[in-house]
This record gives sequence, C-alpha cells and structure tokens, in this order.
Amino acid sequence: LRNELAHVERLGVVGQMAASITHEVRNPMAVVRGFLQLLREKSPGSLDHYYHIVMDELDRANSIINDFLSLAQNHASEKEEVHLHHIIKELTPLLLADANMRGQTIEVKLNEDIPSKFIDPKEIKQLILNLARNGMEAMGNKGTLIISTALDEGNVRLSISDSGPGISLETQNKLFEPFFTTKSEGTGLGLSLCQGIAERHHATIRIDSEEGIGTTFHVIFMNQ
Ligand code: ADP
Ligand code: MG
Repeated sequence: LRNELAHVERLGVVGQMAASITHEVRNPMAVVRGFLQLLREKSPGSLDHYYHIVMDELDRANSIINDFLSLAQNHASEKEEVHLHHIIKELTPLLLADANMRGQTIEVKLNEDIPSKFIDPKEIKQLILNLARNGMEAMGNKGTLIISTALDEGNVRLSISDSGPGISLETQNKLFEPFFTTKSEGTGLGLSLCQGIAERHHATIRIDSEEGIGTTFHVIFMNQ
C-alpha cells in the first residue's frame, strides 16, 4: 500500500510539473509566433518559405506540449451517462472535412442496439479523433475510413478501420510506447493517450491489421 501511495503522489507531482512547464513554455512560444507574423508583414515575400517552416515547427511543438500535458496530468475522468453515437455524430462533420481535404471518404455504420455508457465524453472524443486521424494519416490521398459500433459478446465495441498499408507485427508491439512514431511530424503520443483513456474506461484496444489491406482499431468497453 505504501508503494502505491508513493506512486500516486509521484504522478501528482509529475502532473503538476507538466502543467506549469506547459504554461511557462506556451507563453514564450506565443510571443515568438506573434513577432514572427510581424516580421513577415514588415518584409513580405522574401521570408515566406522560412516563415512557413518555422510556423509548422511551432505548431508541432505545440501539439507535443498539448499531448504531453493530457498524458502527464492523468486526471480523473468526468463520466456521465452518454450514448457513443451522440459523440460520433458530433465529431462527424469535423472528420468529414478532414477526410475531404485528403481526398478520402468516411463511412459511419452505427448499430442502433448498443446502449449508452457511463463515459467521459471529452476523453472519448479525443480517443476517436486520435484513432481516426491515425487512420487518415496512414491512407495518404485516397481511401475510406469506417467508423462503426457493434455489440461484441454483450460489450459495446467501437471500431475504426482504414484501408492503409497495415502495421507489421513488430511495429504493433511498439505502437503504445510514448514517443514511438514513424512520422516526421508525429508526436508518438496519440496512442499512449488512447491507452490511458481506454484504461480509465475499463476498455481494451485490439488491433486487427493486414499488411497491404488496412488496419482496424477496436475499442471494447467491458461491462462491469
Ligand atoms: P503519431 O500519430 O504522432 O505518430 P501515435 O501514437 O498516434 O503517434 O501512433 C504511433 C505510430 O503507430 C504511428 O507513427 C504509426 O507508425 C503507427 N500507427 C498508428 N495507427 C496506424 C494506422 N491506422 N495505420 C498504420 N500505422 C499506424
Ligand atoms: Mg497519432
């Protein structure tokens, strides 16, 4: 028990540190961003190329900080009785716009028999967004992302399938490690976040992937 308490306390300190470091780093970054815009206005044209590189890198640093914060804070979920379909329908326009820009399509197949669950809507939104974005990023400039729900031996199952290149078994074993990424602009924190969210919801994530065919991430909410 003492060990467990020490662990909980340590997480608390790490979470607090993450929050204050995040805050302290975000401010100077906002200043850099602002003055960069000003610089560009003062000398239009010649610096455009560098401007876009620096802005993109600033954005990337920002996503790392945001993902890291959600990961380190390890906050308690704020659960309420919500239907998964409600969250999916809320996210659909956003996902459609994203897919559209990439030349991809999205299919949503909802099984009307699934019951509502006691979940944290913000966290589940983040989970779906992370899995859907990964699927879209894997597919390149074509392909179909399928978001579906089903009953799996009485448990609610959410599945996100892509028609991307698939994931080798070797890579599958590393996917959930923090900072593991195969993307030049990736943070490698998305799936670690998903894992934490799943754990707080007594859900398990299962990967079904075939190289050259595509990948499905199943999130199975275990009945308690
Ligand atoms: P990031 O997206 O920033 O790289 P993630 O934790 O979300 O970080 O994903 C880690 C890695 O898992 C990705 O870099 C990619 O190699 C792999 N991956 C995740 N989802 C898929 C997918 N649907 N298809 C192929 N590879 C995937
Ligand atoms: Mg990701």
